Amino acid sequence: MIKKILLVSSLTLFTLVLSIVLSRSAIASNSELLKQQIEKDYKYLEQLYRHLHSHPEISFQEKNTAKRVAKELKVLGFEVTENFGGYGVVGVLKNGEGPTVMIRTDLDALPIKEKTGLSYASKQSMKDRDGNKTYAMHACGHDVHMTVFTGTVRRLAESKKQWAGTLIMIGQPAEERSGGAKAMLADGLFEKFPRPDYNLALHVSADIPAGKIGTVQGFAMANVDSVDILVKGQGGHGAYPHNTKDPVVLASQIIQSLQTIVSRETSPLEPAVVTVGSIHGGSQHNIISNQVKMQLTLRSYSDAVRKNTISSIKRMTKHLALAAGLAEDQIPVVTVLNESTPAAYNHPELTGKVTDLFHQLFGEQNIIQLKPEMVGEDFGRYGQVEPKIPSLMFRLGTVNVDTFNAAHTGGKRLPTLHSADFAPDPEPTIKTGVRAMTEAALLLLKKK
Ligand SMILES: [Zn+2]
Ligand SMILES: [Zn+2]
Repeated sequence: MIKKILLVSSLTLFTLVLSIVLSRSAIASNSELLKQQIEKDYKYLEQLYRHLHSHPEISFQEKNTAKRVAKELKVLGFEVTENFGGYGVVGVLKNGEGPTVMIRTDLDALPIKEKTGLSYASKQSMKDRDGNKTYAMHACGHDVHMTVFTGTVRRLAESKKQWAGTLIMIGQPAEERSGGAKAMLADGLFEKFPRPDYNLALHVSADIPAGKIGTVQGFAMANVDSVDILVKGQGGHGAYPHNTKDPVVLASQIIQSLQTIVSRETSPLEPAVVTVGSIHGGSQHNIISNQVKMQLTLRSYSDAVRKNTISSIKRMTKHLALAAGLAEDQIPVVTVLNESTPAAYNHPELTGKVTDLFHQLFGEQNIIQLKPEMVGEDFGRYGQVEPKIPSLMFRLGTVNVDTFNAAHTGGKRLPTLHSADFAPDPEPTIKTGVRAMTEAALLLLKKK
């Protein structure tokens, strides 16, 4: 009897081991095939990348960029909707019963004059929303995002037999101005198209070498709020300050007081930033002005910290104005602008699963565990809509390996994102990105 049990259990064990070995080798062979297909497709993707890089369009003006992304989806048989939430593009590919996965790329560039000296550098100029001439550059790598997006969709459309479910590919405008995700959601992204079970995106990194990937579980990027403060006063001659209420002095007191919101009112264990990025007031030496305008950026993770920071700004500005002797109707006007971005939260279970897969595919040494940052990304907004959709944005290394090593040994600083010198190393960056995003999507859409 015992022998029989032993025989049965060892047979079961044998079958189990065999099936693990077989499924691992199936993964390995499919993955090897995918790698070869990406190699073959790279020429096409590099051409696309160079085209996108040299034809950037700034936020809210991504007309031709969106058209190009739409074209890439149409030729692969996607049902494509254009001009959705501005210049947004939505492509849907239904491939039988299974989960719905949304993959997002952003489309917009920045008003920066490129200084990389690359043969395909942007020379493009255009008018901004106020009608002023500005240069345009893909200094945040959204051209890499679109190229990887296209490479991924070309692989997924070709390997339809390997997966089942629905793929939603979106090209989102105006990420840099934080309006694009909001506009696409307001236009009914999750109502007019199948609601995703998972949201995926990647963002390039200017301090990870090309060929490597970074992930972070939980909060990855911060709540971002832009706040305007209008400090009022009673102007007059600079020689008669006693007859005025000087808004420049009041504004300087406000700036000093705001420093205590983070240092004295927020738990040292909770991240928060209050930065006064701009202050303008007055016209010349001997005139006390009527007003001062300030622009602030606020960063946080938790809603409680965010709310407290905003209410503290209102409380401090009001009471400092009253202390300066201004009347109730002259207290500063604090405006929280509409362009706020919610924190990007990487769903821990989804992040864990995808990170494990990346370890298998690329090797432990090529996957970096990152720390959360206080920058913002409006991809976070898609994961905030109730009921919350598990979302993940991972980071894609872009820095040429030799440049990276030289900078580190020489103690030199690498160009950051949003810098006129930011120049990704296209080939290893794009190939790694396409492989990572395609494999992540296949993991979620795997045929049962
Ligand atoms: Zn950016
Ligand atoms: Zn960006």
